[in-house]
Parts: sequence; structure tokens; C-alpha cells
Amino acid sequence: MTDPRIVPERPELGPRPHLGYTASAIDRAADRRNDDAALAKFLQDDRAGGYVVGGELVVMKLRGEDIDPLFSPAEAAALGGGRETIFLGLAGEAPRFGFGFGLDPASIDQLKARNDLKITDLRSIAVQGLVDTAHLPPLAEAKALIGWHARHRFCPNCGTPTRVVQGGWRRDCPSCKAEHFPRTDPVVIMLAIAGERCVLGRSPRFAPTMWSALAGFAEPGETIEEAVRREVLEEAGIRCGKVTYAMSQPWPFPSSLMIGCHAQALSDHIVIDRSEIEDARWFSRDELALMLGRRHPGGLTTPPPVAIAHHLIRSFVEDGCHVLD
Ligand SMILES: [Zn+2]
Repeated sequence: MTDPRIVPERPELGPRPHLGYTASAIDRAADRRNDDAALAKFLQDDRAGGYVVGGELVVMKLRGEDIDPLFSPAEAAALGGGRETIFLGLAGEAPRFGFGFGLDPASIDQLKARNDLKITDLRSIAVQGLVDTAHLPPLAEAKALIGWHARHRFCPNCGTPTRVVQGGWRRDCPSCKAEHFPRTDPVVIMLAIAGERCVLGRSPRFAPTMWSALAGFAEPGETIEEAVRREVLEEAGIRCGKVTYAMSQPWPFPSSLMIGCHAQALSDHIVIDRSEIEDARWFSRDELALMLGRRHPGGLTTPPPVAIAHHLIRSFVEDGCHVLD
């Protein structure tokens, strides 16, 4: 029994890190998407720059140690394999684009062999801090949209090839006239909390020391709160009551929106669904503080600050069950 007179000390974790892919400085200028003349002029603008994305890979310019993810439209075209050009918006006055590439493995190997290019996946770019964090939100925007185009070349209504309109923000079917819009898939990610403890789980895909928040797709016909309660019950057998929203994060793998929540656990006994997760257990705030600070005696870790789970855990470590207020 914890002595109620002892108030746990708020651990000193330093300034809160930035949450990856958030706080975009891009003005999406949606009113220009329908203006083909304006878009053509933007592509001719000396300040125009775009991100080159093909599947999971991002192509960037390498100059010595410096990595620059922005290509001029002409530089992007010179790489070959160009598909969609998507208008992302304006960075100040500078037009920003996503250049979708359909590169075959041989072409990718050829580009990878060049010493003036760096080609890697967006997760690595974010976790390793390869580019200025200001590039991460438009890279996420570009990757999610380009991925959507790659998977929606045909009308789901009648099967006819669709065409890109609205600067890449819609695909229209010339046959049945259906209009198709880019999709975002909501994912709930949450900590179930009881007093000074919360539940974390492990996926077999994780690094062996890492534990994270439980998560899952919200299903059709379900509120965020219902999705949180269902996922925690399915994966860990814990019933939850009150659910509070904490923060959200675009997660373009391929097109998710992570909705971060805290939930009040109403039961204690964990029953793990091994088809979903490898393990789950309760963690105290003290143990979580050691994990966040990379000082855990058993070497256990949380996800890095680029991921929303890090921030949900940190909020709980700092504010305790007040996250449920
Ligand atoms: Zn159609």
C-alpha cells in the first residue's frame, strides 16, 4: 500500500521534444488546387521545390555531409520515372510539390549508387534526424498522397483508369464520373491507466528492449472512445472507462492519423491476445521515467520522440492520473 502522504516527485526530463511530422509550416493553399494556370506558374517559379517519393523511399540530394530533400522540378524530372506531381502548398512564397516516382528496382539501385544522392525510408529520415524537422510534415503529406495515388489508379466503382485533378488532391473517373478523394485512416493509440501504473505492450516487430502504447485502427461505425476501449480489451483484456484525448499525429505508413488517448483502466488482470501482440504488462511511472531517460536497469526503452507513444508516456510520467482529468 502506498503511503497517501507521499506525493511522487515529478521527474525532471528536460524540455519536451518535438513530435515528428507535426506543426507543418506549409500553407496548403487549397484554393489554388483547381487553378491549372497558377499551378503551372508555380512549377516555373525559381523558388519551387519538391520532395521525391517512390513507395517507401525518399530520394534526397547529398552534398558532402549535408542532405537536402528538395529538388527543383527540372532536377526531379532528370531522375527519371516521374509519375504524379502534387501541389503540397506554399512555404512562405515558395511553391512546394510532391513528385511521385515509379522506379523499378534496377533504377533504384542505379540511383543508390550515385554519390550525390541519399535514398532511404521516411522512418529512418525522422528517427536519425537526417533533415531539418521542418521538412518532416511536408514529407509526410507528400508520402501519404503519393502512396494513395499509387493504390488508386482505377475507379473502385467501375474499374476504369482514373485521372489526376485538383493538383493531385482528387482522382476522377471519366466513365462513371465518380470523384475520389485521398483517404486518412484513423488509428487509436492509448495508455490504459490505473493510479501510478499504465499498460504497455510489445509487438514482435519491435526491437527486443522496446515497449509501447497499445494501438489499432478505429473501425467503421465506432467513436474514438469506443475504439480505445475495444482495442485495450481485445489486446490486453483490460476494461476501460473514461477516455481522454491527448494529441494526434499524421503517420504516413501508409496513410494513418494517430489519435493519442489516455484511458481509465477498470480492471487489473491482463489477458494477452497473442495474435495481436507478443506481451503486455503494467509499468509504474518510476519505471517509465527510467525508460524515457534511457536509464532503465534492464535496458528497456520507449519509442523515440518522433513517435506519439513517447509523448503519451511522457505526459503520464509527468502528470500522473491527471492526464484523465
Ligand atoms: Zn468509375
